[in-house]
Amino acid sequence: MRSPISIMPHLGALLMAAATMVQLPAACAQTQDKVLNLYSARHYPTDEALYSQFTQATGIRINRIDADDAGILSRLKAEGSASPADVILLVDAARLWRAEVDGLFLPVKSKVLDASVPATLRAKPTGEGGSAWFGLSTRARVIVFDQRRLKREDLDTYEKLASPQFKGQLCIRSGSHPYNLSLFGAMTEHLGPVQTERWLKGLVDNLARPPRGGDTDQIKGVASGECAVALTNTYYLARLMRSNKPDDQAAMAHLGVVFPNQASWGTHVNIAGGGVARHAKHPENAVKFLEYLVSPAAQQHFANGNNEWPVVPGLKLENPALQAMSGGGFKSELVPISAVGMNQFKVQQMLDRVGMK
Ligand code: FE
Repeated sequence: MRSPISIMPHLGALLMAAATMVQLPAACAQTQDKVLNLYSARHYPTDEALYSQFTQATGIRINRIDADDAGILSRLKAEGSASPADVILLVDAARLWRAEVDGLFLPVKSKVLDASVPATLRAKPTGEGGSAWFGLSTRARVIVFDQRRLKREDLDTYEKLASPQFKGQLCIRSGSHPYNLSLFGAMTEHLGPVQTERWLKGLVDNLARPPRGGDTDQIKGVASGECAVALTNTYYLARLMRSNKPDDQAAMAHLGVVFPNQASWGTHVNIAGGGVARHAKHPENAVKFLEYLVSPAAQQHFANGNNEWPVVPGLKLENPALQAMSGGGFKSELVPISAVGMNQFKVQQMLDRVGMK
């Protein structure tokens, strides 16, 4: 029977600790315990400060393995119970849901996490086999456009991106990237599969170039005039807005940003988050780390360092770019994460049919 890890570490870790104590002097054993193995899909250089602050505060050293969401999930499955992973951080709600369904997380009992992360931004497992994850930050998927060529009203919904008036003008990263799969999965909830496939076909018809690169490349495509409109996550945009490089500043000069669907279901918002790995060897350190990530200092760091929105409500942000782009806030869509996750297979089939790479 598995106990909630805030009460006691699981049996394997206890046995390991006991074995270590027999062989090594106590001080050395303690040093060995001050470790956290982190599997992270967060690919943001500003996170380094976040991790080193945790080590400074707790003495727990972080060993980090970086991969994308899919790479981490397949690695965890391949490693099974031998996996050294203690904490898993992913950057997409549907992948968090996938990891939850596949039982890759442990259940976690933490008053701090329960009190800090709103119920809509986490999976609260029921029963002992539960698999818990916690949203740590959010990001909106917005439309950027060339203000010299297009008007804001032309682009105030995701649906309009498929309008024939934008033929040859749309830049987008791969349709199969998690950020797009999740947006398309949410669109399937709003429009139904038939309309969504028609919409995706419209996007393909409007492409300025075959999908390639990341979101920043799409923004720069608009800036260079290769396209007139693109989709991006907000933090990539904010990063360029805050950049001191003359090239970036020039790129942003004529760019407009739209939070789509404000008059209907709201802008698509994705979640970055994490949980304690199912076979964690340092589960107490893992909970400590997640609790640290929802502390005011870490949440401010997500906002001010990586330009994401914190999940903990009521924090004062000091991010002029987020403030400038969203003004007094925006309406975000409310779609169950499980629905977005479950639609992904269907969406991938649609992408194959409409020929979106
Ligand atoms: Fe990203």
